[in-house]
Amino acid sequence: MMQRFQNKVVCITGGSDGIGLATAKRFAAEGAHVYFTGRRQDRLDAAAAEIGHGAIGIQGDVGNGSDLDRLYERIGKDHGRVDVVFANAGISESAALGQIDEAHIDRLFDTNIKGTVFTVQKALPLMGAGGSVILAGSGAGSKGFPALSMYSATKAAIRSLARTWTTDLKHKGIRVNVVSPGMIFTPAMHAYLDANPGMEDGMKQMTPFGRLGEADEVARAVLFLASEEGSFVAGDELFVDGGFVAV
Ligand code: NDP
Repeated sequence: MMQRFQNKVVCITGGSDGIGLATAKRFAAEGAHVYFTGRRQDRLDAAAAEIGHGAIGIQGDVGNGSDLDRLYERIGKDHGRVDVVFANAGISESAALGQIDEAHIDRLFDTNIKGTVFTVQKALPLMGAGGSVILAGSGAGSKGFPALSMYSATKAAIRSLARTWTTDLKHKGIRVNVVSPGMIFTPAMHAYLDANPGMEDGMKQMTPFGRLGEADEVARAVLFLASEEGSFVAGDELFVDGGFVAV
């Protein structure tokens, strides 16, 4: 195992399950001090045991600014800095155009946009040159998917945030990029497939590589963007989708 993140301080929102958990495991195994969040304490405890290497789970909702303040206060107290932020926490919800209501829009934008904005904004006082921010986008932010317009809108906006923040943060030497998964097996995906029987075959057909991805395949892309190997990659979007967006 490479040790690209020896003593680096890494913060992952939504790190107690799915893609965030897979990413936390990889960073921790490569020597990072990992802090990760989620809303459910029991999941945080289980994930901390799974990640090992002293990873610390901190309960909080990314839609709640004071929870994020508590997270960064703790990281600041322990290390005085954060080197990598993976703003991964996000939710997906579908609604046909006629069914979209204000509550649906608010839930998606509160978590996926407001949560991402405050996750990054509140990390900045602890970040310096060489810092790396990775935002969780989605193939759905670039391609139509039935009844997913509000989710897709949040994920298309994530790309705009990364491009704008690349210019805003260049003077600090902080790179901002997006990792955009296609259809990946995670608890969120399993819940979606349970609610929509028969969708799995359709998803495989929409993906040139003919299968769904694994969370660890996304994690490996996140570590590339965060590492020195990605030192000149800025304001970019890396699709990890088996070709879903390309066709
Ligand atoms: P999961 O639902 O499997 O895991 C989400 C994680 O985020 C959990 O740890 C969950 O814990 C946490 N979380 C959810 N909401 C919040 C919140 N408001 N505040 C803090 N933590 C939260 O999701 P995935 O791993 O599938 O997705 C991760 C990211 O990747 C998301 O942004 C998603 O949109 C994106 N993505 C995923 C795809 C896929 O196919 N899986 C495809 C494209 C994009 P808890 O519930 O306890 O809070």
